[in-house]
Amino acid sequence: MKNNIALDAFHYGMGTQISHRVYGSNAKEALNAAQGEAKRLEDLLSRFIPQSDVGRINASAGKVQEKISKETFCVAKSALEFTRLSDGLFNAAIGPLVDLWDYKHSTKPPSKEKIVQVLSLINAEDFEINSAQMTAGLKRKGQSIDFGGIGKGFASDRFIKIFTDYGITSAFSNIGGNVSTLGSKPDGKAWRVGIKHPRQDGLIGAVAVNGKAVVTSGDYERFFIDNLGRRFCHILNPLTGYPARSGLISATVIADSAMTADALSTALFVAGIEKGLEIIKKCDDVQVILIDDILTIYVSKELNQKFDTITDISVRYI
Ligand code: ADP
Ligand code: MG
Repeated sequence: MKNNIALDAFHYGMGTQISHRVYGSNAKEALNAAQGEAKRLEDLLSRFIPQSDVGRINASAGKVQEKISKETFCVAKSALEFTRLSDGLFNAAIGPLVDLWDYKHSTKPPSKEKIVQVLSLINAEDFEINSAQMTAGLKRKGQSIDFGGIGKGFASDRFIKIFTDYGITSAFSNIGGNVSTLGSKPDGKAWRVGIKHPRQDGLIGAVAVNGKAVVTSGDYERFFIDNLGRRFCHILNPLTGYPARSGLISATVIADSAMTADALSTALFVAGIEKGLEIIKKCDDVQVILIDDILTIYVSKELNQKFDTITDISVRYI
């Protein structure tokens, strides 16, 4: 097969759609391996699979520590680091609050009393990991971890690693909106990654990247609307117990690692612009595209030549 022929693959995994575009002679084998990896990671990290590492950690909360795989350990360690880095706005132990709001089935917000009660369980310091024993556990019954805001990014990094191991030098991976790129396109041009318009069909812009991850958290894909017309999205503020209302409706992070970009995009969506910029100042080589609720786009100045808007919309470089 010639090197510039694309092979595309599409499948479901980790609760979302996964698509890959891979160039090169081992493309087919690499795609099969990536699909297998998606299944393997879901079986370790899903909260909804009782035998998964995360399922067992949550079921054993307040009782025992569970043996975990090195992959789960790696995600858990990073989740705790991003929890610290964001002063708990990204929160590894957000599980009980996610369950309470249950955006998939809810039609109205939970009562204030219930929120207060559940908030008392959200404390990432109660999530302990032990590298010598390869175990993890939660101190109190009712607590749970949730890697919904970081796991797909981890998977994305693994796909790129697999492609590299198969000798691939040009690939594009998209797992539920978490995009990762390997190298440039085969013609040497940068990949252009579309940024969805948060309030209309189609794109608001696109960013050119080589070998980077581009991950967005927004309020427009997973949410419910109550009978008063209020929108409640799936990203929650662990300080208030309510869906994040930071003024941002879309937060995109561009970084070398998709896991970093995934966790930070969730954190920034909760933090808002001001606090969000403080958080990314602590990280090396991370850029952002932030959209607020009046559709102003704030773009890192490093992306000046790399970001284009599709519509006539105002961009402020920061
Ligand atoms: P998506 O999964 O839609 O791409 P995110 O990466 O932002 O979006 O992850 C959102 C998911 O992360 C939620 O569905 C939930 O499982 C979890 N989550 C919600 N709020 C937080 C938070 N403050 N910190 C960490 N994880 C969160
Ligand atoms: Mg995320």
